[in-house]
Amino acid sequence: MEKKTKKKYSETEIKQALTFIEIFETKDEIDCKGCGYDTCRDFAAAMLEGKETPSKCVELSKKVIEKLKRKEKELRESLFLNQEILDAVPAPIIYEDKEGHAIGCNKAYEEIAGIKRFDIKDKKLTEYSDNKAYNELNDRLNASLLKNPGKQVVETVVKYPGGDDITIELHKAVFADRAGRPAGFVSILFDITERVMQSRETAIAKDTAELSVSLLKKMPSGFVIVDDSLKIIESNSAFARLMGDDILAISEINPGLKGADLKSVFSDHQLFTALMQSGEDSYTKDIVHNGKKIKITIFTIEKNKTAGAILLDLSMPEVKNEEVRKRAEEVIRENLDTVQKIAYLLGENASKTENVLSSVIRLLSDNDKK
Ligand code: SF4
Repeated sequence: MEKKTKKKYSETEIKQALTFIEIFETKDEIDCKGCGYDTCRDFAAAMLEGKETPSKCVELSKKVIEKLKRKEKELRESLFLNQEILDAVPAPIIYEDKEGHAIGCNKAYEEIAGIKRFDIKDKKLTEYSDNKAYNELNDRLNASLLKNPGKQVVETVVKYPGGDDITIELHKAVFADRAGRPAGFVSILFDITERVMQSRETAIAKDTAELSVSLLKKMPSGFVIVDDSLKIIESNSAFARLMGDDILAISEINPGLKGADLKSVFSDHQLFTALMQSGEDSYTKDIVHNGKKIKITIFTIEKNKTAGAILLDLSMPEVKNEEVRKRAEEVIRENLDTVQKIAYLLGENASKTENVLSSVIRLLSDNDKK
C-alpha cells in the first residue's frame, strides 16, 4: 500500500527537500515508487514531515553506488599510474610506514633486493634483508627522521643478490598524511659505485700527474706547454734558462711561467702557432736562440688547442758528442710521449690513466738513471 503525507508544503519547501535526494529539476522527478510513495514530491513532503530520510530513496542509493564505483575505478587507475611512474624510475625506491613496514616499492628496488613487492609488503627490512649494517642504518635514519622530519642523505654499501657490492647514496625522507602528520618514509637508492671509483681514480691520476710534472721539471731539456693563445700552461726551469737570464729571474717569482705570454718569451713562437694551425702531430727544427743552437720538437697535445715543446741545447758539452746527441734525441722522443700524456691530464684531468702514468713515471725514472 502506498505511503501518504498529511501536511501540505510550499513549492519552495518541496524543491529544497528534493535537493536532499539530488533532484534539482522537474525532469529528474522520475516517480519510480521505489521508496513506497507515488511521487518524488510525496517522498519530499514525508522527509519534511520527518518520516523519511534521503537514504530511503532507491534512486539516490543507486547514484551513490555508481559514484563510489567510479571513484574506486579512478583510484585504481591512479594507483596503477603511480606504480607505472615509480617503475619507470631507474633508481630503486621503497616506501615504508612509520614503523618501517614496507608499503610498496618499484621494479628497480625489486631487482636490487632480489624480492617481489608482494613479498615485502608489510614486512620490516630485517625480515627480508640480511645486510645487518644497512638494516641498522635504516633503523637509525627512521628514528632520526621521526624526530626531525625532512630529508637525510647517506653513503653506504649494499649487495646485489648476485653478491656484488655497490656503493649507494641513500636519500630518505618522511612523507605526510592528509593532516600533515608523518605517515612513513620514502627511500631512493642511487648507485654511485662508478662515481666513487672515478673520483678515486681521478685523485690518483691527479697525484700521479703532479708527480710526473715534478719529474719533468727536473729534466735537463727544456719543456713548455702552451694554449692556443700562446699562454704558457707549464714549463720547467731548463726552458726558462734557455730563454735567458731575464726569463729565468721571472720564473723564480712565477715558477713554471704559468700564464706568461710565449710571444714575449720566445722569438720563434710562430712555430707553435704554425703547428696548432696545421693540426700536425709534431715538428722538429734546429734554431738559434740567445746565441745558442737549440733542437726544438713541438708537438700537439690537443688538436688546435694545446701544444708542447721539448728544447735541447745543442751547445751543451755532453750534447756536442754525436753519440750522446743521438741518445739525447732518443730521450726527447720518449719524453715527447710522456709530456703529451701528462699535458693531456693537466688539461682534461682524465680518470683512467693511472696505469699509463705509472708506466710514464717508470719511463722517466729509467731515463733519469740513464
Ligand atoms: S524512490 Fe526516489 S526517485 Fe523513486 S519515487 Fe521515491 S523519491 Fe522518487
